[in-house]
Amino acid sequence: MNATDTNGLVFDIQRFSLHDGPGIRTTIFLKGCPLNCAWCHNPEAKPYKQQLSFNENLCTSCMECVKVCNNTVHSFVNGKHNVNFDACELSGKCVEVCPSEALQIIGKEYSTNEIINIVLRDKKYFENSNGGLTISGGEPLAQFKFTKSLLMKAKDAGLHTAIETCGFAKEQQYLDILPYVDLFLYDIKAAEDKKHIEFTGASNKLILLNLDLLSNNGANIILRCPLIPGVNDSEEHLSFIAGLNKKYQNILKVEVMAFHNIGRDKSKNIGVEYKFNDKPNADENTKRMWIAKLEDYGCTNISIG
Ligand code: SF4
Ligand code: SF4
Repeated sequence: MNATDTNGLVFDIQRFSLHDGPGIRTTIFLKGCPLNCAWCHNPEAKPYKQQLSFNENLCTSCMECVKVCNNTVHSFVNGKHNVNFDACELSGKCVEVCPSEALQIIGKEYSTNEIINIVLRDKKYFENSNGGLTISGGEPLAQFKFTKSLLMKAKDAGLHTAIETCGFAKEQQYLDILPYVDLFLYDIKAAEDKKHIEFTGASNKLILLNLDLLSNNGANIILRCPLIPGVNDSEEHLSFIAGLNKKYQNILKVEVMAFHNIGRDKSKNIGVEYKFNDKPNADENTKRMWIAKLEDYGCTNISIG
């Protein structure tokens, strides 16, 4: 295979990841997503562009950033550090002078060759654990050329490959990457289309069509199901998940992703609204109830995160 080297925008690289497919993995998180899930754990993944991030807890109020920013992004009012994210032109000057790493630019351009070289550092761990490379995001197919090239290079290097996808991409793109993907971690978010639109900004129709397409073409699939108490943990949705699991023989497992408000602080750091500020994390009883209900509906291959 002769994959062209191409550049993509990456916001995180996690080595020794244990939660994004089998074994020990390196997970590459790409920027850009066509959905806008209200509970998103990675709000910094949504826009396909770099962003300034400010962590108030790390700020020592030294005011060095105020001195270097030409756009008055940083100001202090009554001792409180305000950040005007909309005015930021991403020069990175404030990041350079910040002594406490309270500021950072999220998103960095890498070539697929650079990423593969990073991933291959851990090849022996992958071999000993049946692990490999996972591409996540954001939505990996929002950077289709980069993702396809990376998958092809990974297969050339003999790696197991997984992709975490929201299912909202062109049919042909799934068919194009299928030969290079060993495992699809495929999100299912709401059975009811109205609810799907309300909480993700898009219809679930294309997502369900693509699940059907991948299943009919022999893909290995793990369904990943974020469950948010009071939002999408209805009987209807749980029975829908169990129904998909029964319908498609190549679904290896259903992974319940219990709500965690990790997106709250990250949203604050990048100056975007987080709708579930007051929602508590899913407790153990709730998680047990979800599992019991899924089992009642005939789904037994479940794990919970
Ligand atoms: S330079 Fe860093 S520590 Fe100093 S005020 Fe700005 S954000 Fe805070
Ligand atoms: S699909 Fe994933 S990355 Fe995109 S908005 Fe939803 S949770 Fe966030």
